[in-house]
Amino acid sequence: MRHTYILLVAGSISLATASNLTMAAEQQTLEPWQLAEKTEVWDPEPPIVQAPAGPPPSDAIVLIGDGKALSQWQALKGGEPQWKVTGDTITVKPETGDIVSKQSFCDIQLHLEWKTPTDVAGKESQQRNNSGVFLQQRYEIQILDSYNNRTYANGQTGSVYKQTIPLANAMRPPGEWQVYDIIFQAPRFEGERLTRPGFVTVIHNGVLLQNHTEIQGSTEWIGPPSYKTHGCAPLQLQDHGNLVSFRNMWVRQL
Ligand code: MG
Repeated sequence: MRHTYILLVAGSISLATASNLTMAAEQQTLEPWQLAEKTEVWDPEPPIVQAPAGPPPSDAIVLIGDGKALSQWQALKGGEPQWKVTGDTITVKPETGDIVSKQSFCDIQLHLEWKTPTDVAGKESQQRNNSGVFLQQRYEIQILDSYNNRTYANGQTGSVYKQTIPLANAMRPPGEWQVYDIIFQAPRFEGERLTRPGFVTVIHNGVLLQNHTEIQGSTEWIGPPSYKTHGCAPLQLQDHGNLVSFRNMWVRQL
């Protein structure tokens, strides 16, 4: 047995030596560009996506904008959503409830523009024009007027609500459009077992707020987060009783 082992080791050493010799010989005979070609990978070729300045990328699913009004949405409590449509902008109609995308999503790239009202009188902390985008109806990325408005840090704009404090506060003043770009990797389950948590990256007005942050479970107002098995699920926008507006919302499925 030991003899065989020694032979095997000796064999692999001599193979390695031979391989090194071959490489050395190649390096002497091949031109630099030929050596460089050896580490080029040509396939698969990435698909072409048209990405003109302004409009969504050609493979995006538009949820708000492009004349779609509320056609891609339904009310959380059922039926037609009652939010206000003004051109390609939609605005929360308080007390009518959250709205939910008709389509379900798994891993996505999400682009979303939102704006909070300039009327901030008497509104402090979480009451200052609150909304939110729920990934898969469970994981809220907070939307709030966090401009000169201190609140608990794990509840300000760009937080994974009540879980992860954003890396920065990149708020523009109220009344200006804010831009979210979000990359979401959905959690994975096998039966009732979580096999991989969700992860989220959030960029707000070009500033990184969440850097591949692990999601700890559904985002709860009261109590700790926890995971419950689910599949692909819709996006949900929150009616928190404030006149928050949305435009130019699109998704690329990953
Ligand atoms: Mg909220």
